[in-house]
Amino acid sequence: DRTVRQIAAGEVVERPASVVKELVENSLDAGADRISVAVEAGGTEGIRVRDDGVGMDRTAAERAVEEHTTSKIDSIDDLEAGVGTLGFRGEALHTIGAVSRLTIRTKPRGGGAGTELRVEGGEVTEVGTAGCPEGTVVAVEDLFYNTPARRKFLKTTATEFDHVNTVVTHYALANPDVAISLEHDDREVFATEGRGDLRSAVLSVYGREVAEAMIEVGRGSDMGDGGSAPTAEGDSPPVESVTGLVSHPETTRSTREYLSTFVNGRYVAAGVLREAVLDAYGGQLASDRYPFAVLFVALPANAVDVNVHPRKMEVRFDDESGVKQAVTAAVREALLEAGL
Ligand code: ADP
Ligand code: MG
Repeated sequence: DRTVRQIAAGEVVERPASVVKELVENSLDAGADRISVAVEAGGTEGIRVRDDGVGMDRTAAERAVEEHTTSKIDSIDDLEAGVGTLGFRGEALHTIGAVSRLTIRTKPRGGGAGTELRVEGGEVTEVGTAGCPEGTVVAVEDLFYNTPARRKFLKTTATEFDHVNTVVTHYALANPDVAISLEHDDREVFATEGRGDLRSAVLSVYGREVAEAMIEVGRGSDMGDGGSAPTAEGDSPPVESVTGLVSHPETTRSTREYLSTFVNGRYVAAGVLREAVLDAYGGQLASDRYPFAVLFVALPANAVDVNVHPRKMEVRFDDESGVKQAVTAAVREALLEAGL
């Protein structure tokens, strides 16, 4: 019933940033080249994510907001074979629709009519044809309007916007081939160009000064040769590659939040990876200063569990110290090559 649905919704949708995360993942899964995110009052008043992805026909749009419907897996075999898309549980749109006023406007790529669908508090209130460009726009208004207890837990507009900004930034850095933009209260915060190279994405997100201070990590090197110690299971290294950009030790900030680490393409908040980066700088950082880092760690899928918790971005490594050593070694090598 409705109450059960609203409680379940809280597991997926904690705050505006969690809505933004789910909608941006859907746009990426839809093969979008451009994704624009616009929020009002930190996302507490409104969230709009627009993409030029594959879009949906009317039937698909109606199914998308039903419970446990996903177009991304057909059977349990698909799940075991490994999921290539970011979403697959088929619950995000349904649960977002249960705790907000949701509007979807969508049109399939390459022809077919556009559809507009509205959901309020979990009930579909309107479905009809609509003139709209190919792709999908999802608008979420009045998040938690019908769950006052949850609405009360929202922080200030500034804090909620910080969370939104962090989420969109991570997707923009992880997907430099997609043009991703963020607007807050009608002001542009950043817009990447989608040119495909990480440095230009960093420039768009963090500005020229930071982009120019970035040093390339893991240029074409894979971790197979020498370096890292063999694991207990055999001689396969714990890490396949460590690539990305880290800043010159003099380009720093006073918080750790610009240390962005990704495992197999997904953002993860892993303390061990942040420590690994900081270790590589040794004594080169002034006290209480932290570098910028955008680092991609690739591991064999069976060496890491990324589904510890679907919402929190945690991972569990089989060989945590091996991963840590490999990351430190890769960053240190890059700093050495840069003469630092
Ligand atoms: P999941 O992503 O886990 O499949 P969601 O509830 O997030 O579940 O989305 C349900 C379905 O709606 C997706 O499987 C997809 O078919 C469709 N969908 C959602 N967002 C988009 C989008 N931006 N473009 C095209 N299809 C979408
Ligand atoms: Mg999804």
